[in-house]
Amino acid sequence: MARARELFPGGVSSPVRAFRGVGGEPFVVERGAGARIWDVDGNEYLDYVLSWGPLVLGHAPAMVLDALRETMERGTSFGIPTGLEVRLAEMVRARMPHVEMLRFVSSGTEATMSALRVARAHTGRDLLLKFDGCYHGHADSFLVRAGSGVATLGLPNSPGVPAALAALTLTAPFNDVAAVEALMRQHADRVAAIIVEPVIGNAGFIPPDPAFLPALRRIADEHGTLLIFDEVMTGFRIAFGGAAEAFGVTADLTTLGKVIGGGLPVAAYGGRRDLMSQVAPDGPVYQAGTLSGNPLAMAAGIATLTALTLTLHDRIAQRTRALVEGLRGIAARQGVPFTADCAGSMFGFFFRTEPVRSFADARTSDVELFKRFFHAALARGVYLAPSPYEAGFTSAAHGDAEITLTLERLDAALAEARA
Ligand code: PLP
Repeated sequence: MARARELFPGGVSSPVRAFRGVGGEPFVVERGAGARIWDVDGNEYLDYVLSWGPLVLGHAPAMVLDALRETMERGTSFGIPTGLEVRLAEMVRARMPHVEMLRFVSSGTEATMSALRVARAHTGRDLLLKFDGCYHGHADSFLVRAGSGVATLGLPNSPGVPAALAALTLTAPFNDVAAVEALMRQHADRVAAIIVEPVIGNAGFIPPDPAFLPALRRIADEHGTLLIFDEVMTGFRIAFGGAAEAFGVTADLTTLGKVIGGGLPVAAYGGRRDLMSQVAPDGPVYQAGTLSGNPLAMAAGIATLTALTLTLHDRIAQRTRALVEGLRGIAARQGVPFTADCAGSMFGFFFRTEPVRSFADARTSDVELFKRFFHAALARGVYLAPSPYEAGFTSAAHGDAEITLTLERLDAALAEARA
């Protein structure tokens, strides 16, 4: 880490990895297998971060490694169409039929900024409505009250984002329909898109109230505004078919990432055919990428989605529920204010009694207790997200034995943390 700090800001390639949210020094990872990772000092951890979401099959799954080996023998990048990108796109569309047409990119940030460009082009409007605590990548328009690493570092917005651009981004509290209605009335016919994480994972785990997403759909329609579901994190995690299946609400545009790349750099944006046909070269909205649709990344995505059957998805979801119920039980027995929830293979918890419905609620949780709990868990071989404002993830490799072991260790960790 000393050498890394000489080379990289904070010694890391992405801010939250630096453990600033919990204090102390990050460990340096050497390898992973299944539900476990090992650091360069030989310590073993049960991993609930899973590369921040992509590894729904766990670390180094045989089917993904086999697909990568077989694919790379034929070359690593071509910059010309391949059959692999068509196969992965068909698999995505089979599970998310509303994603009629899509474009592969290499990061979630690219996906959301491109979807916003399509929305602005289609509507001829400039404003964007997002929610406090939702993170949509680091493109300028989204770095306004953006949750995740930005919140962990206590930055309301990032310097370097031109004020004129930030002024085009409106924010409302998550789960607050009245606030959305008021903003949309105030900026009548000027809002290009409402973008939302259907379940927030970047302010901790915050599910939508049952009425929230349907209300966003209705309000968007009333105002000729497009609805964008940012499913970079929730896609193939909260339900087999994503938010449309989980909540019965369909977005006009959807962004995907993480799981669809099976641990390699892939993301996508897609949706209604009339919208996506406006993207170059079919239409005038320009967006391009040297490594977009990269064959290795496509092969990892195909292998991952092939393995992630409905049965497997449900099994992982069931074990995630067992983890969350176990955590609730531990906190209740120890008399610690606690709330926890999950959707599919995504989960989260806060040290606070009442359920969390917004980022403002999340901020009232006991962050100091979280920090002590995080380190006590890490010392016992459980790696939780190093911030109170991040969701956790499970994988196919987190079996009953791993969940039981995790709960034993976290029971002891909580006892130490609250002492
Ligand atoms: N959108 C959401 C919901 C995310 O969780 C993230 C990353 O965590 C992004 C967008 C940005 O993706 P990337 O880090 O691949 O740029």
